[in-house]
Amino acid sequence: MQNPLLDASDNDQEFERTLRPTRINEFIGQKKVIQNLSVFIRAAQKRDEALDHVILSGPPGLGKTTLAHIIANEMGVQIKPTTGPVLEKPGDLAGMLTNLEEGDVLFIDEIHRLNPVIEEYLYSAMEDYQLDIVIDSGPNARSIQIELNRFTLVGATTRKGLLTAPLRARFGIDMRLDYYDVELLQRIALRTASILNMGITETGAHEIARRSRGTPRIVNKLLRRTRDFAQVKDMDTINDEIADTALNALDVDENGLDEMDIRILKAIIENYEGGPVGLGTLGVAVGEDKGTIEEVYEPYLIKEGFLQRTPKGRIATRQAFEYLGVNPDKIEGN
Ligand code: ADP
Repeated sequence: MQNPLLDASDNDQEFERTLRPTRINEFIGQKKVIQNLSVFIRAAQKRDEALDHVILSGPPGLGKTTLAHIIANEMGVQIKPTTGPVLEKPGDLAGMLTNLEEGDVLFIDEIHRLNPVIEEYLYSAMEDYQLDIVIDSGPNARSIQIELNRFTLVGATTRKGLLTAPLRARFGIDMRLDYYDVELLQRIALRTASILNMGITETGAHEIARRSRGTPRIVNKLLRRTRDFAQVKDMDTINDEIADTALNALDVDENGLDEMDIRILKAIIENYEGGPVGLGTLGVAVGEDKGTIEEVYEPYLIKEGFLQRTPKGRIATRQAFEYLGVNPDKIEGN
């Protein structure tokens, strides 16, 4: 991912870890998801079973990894995290699976990037807690079966559309995280500030929340950067004024749109007269994978009223024209 605000670099990972809510009642927002998850967790505990496999989908930075850890904490089990591309050989998967204790969570981030061979092995592991491994080749080839402890696979993906049907079907619990509204992001900003011992006013938190593209990860990053600006000015409390100064200096757009969001809107308006334009063409125009546009960028632009999906393609709304300072009536065909 090329967006520095959405991307969690190594430097930021430690910072993110310290801010992660660890229990389900500390998780802000996503009410429906949390309510349902609480029921499933309690029911599994009552039956003394491992929780059913869970797939968490949604744009980056909305709390999928956080929820995976919360699931393990609430179930009182260990979590073993890995990511799709890291599991290259069947042996990598076998190593992870045989290390799981009864009820443990195996967390596979970016599960849409799993090697198809590994995915095949995962099927029987998920279904029967059994691993069928073929050893040797040619006439000596034979298959051995390894019994596994019952475990919960939690998969996270920004690209649910790329999961194969057989894999998708093996998840009993399917949850989608959505962008947060400003009020919830403001609460997240206040929570983060209090963990980091930073003073912040309600309006300061609101300014950061409003410009964070509906995303908790961005709230936390912008808060940290804003604190630098406040400290240089010897301010011990972040207010809306210093937040505004900091965000302008960081080139954070008034609505929190990022560089790729703007590029997408500009391409539709300037190259295609506002659309409709097909997703593939749009992807080439902005130099981004069309699936990433569809699942990472578009949902926010649609939610904020800048973009519409139609059967003929994507169209920029009047609001998008106004945002970019282009008069829609001056464009031919409108
Ligand atoms: P994802 O896995 O979806 O990319 P993460 O779970 O890594 O997102 O969350 C990114 C950061 O945002 C974490 O540091 C976490 O503390 C914070 N965060 C995400 N969701 C929430 C929430 N609902 N409440 C508080 N903080 C959150």
